[in-house]
Amino acid sequence: MQKLFHFDCPREVYQADACVISCFDARFDLAVRKFLKRRGIAVYDHIKIPGSVKPLVAPERDSDRDFVLGMVRTSLRLHRSGRVLLFAHNECGGYPGVSPEIIAGDVTKAAAFLRTAERAIQIETFFCDFDGIYGI
Ligand SMILES: [Zn+2]
Repeated sequence: MQKLFHFDCPREVYQADACVISCFDARFDLAVRKFLKRRGIAVYDHIKIPGSVKPLVAPERDSDRDFVLGMVRTSLRLHRSGRVLLFAHNECGGYPGVSPEIIAGDVTKAAAFLRTAERAIQIETFFCDFDGIYGI
């Protein structure tokens, strides 16, 4: 390997404030980051998935659901937050032509699925629109 960039990264294993699941749609990145900061969530494991919670609710393959659940469990095990935040957003490419109410409904279903799979975790659900972030 050849060093291309110098930067000192912290070596300590951290305890995350939360595990965050959102779409990878970059239009909402800044709003989500500012929202999390406002809520005191500074360190978090961010799982970005096109369509956000869709693989938990309506996976193209069953293995997709297991893969996402595995990522959440790894975050909980390694970084011990005990808290999962689910974000969906309006005009998501994973939900072409679908209303915000139906997308928000999937977030609620995903939260129920995660609560069944991991009973000890606290789950919060949110919907990002172009004018801000809403609680579901
Ligand atoms: Zn999206």
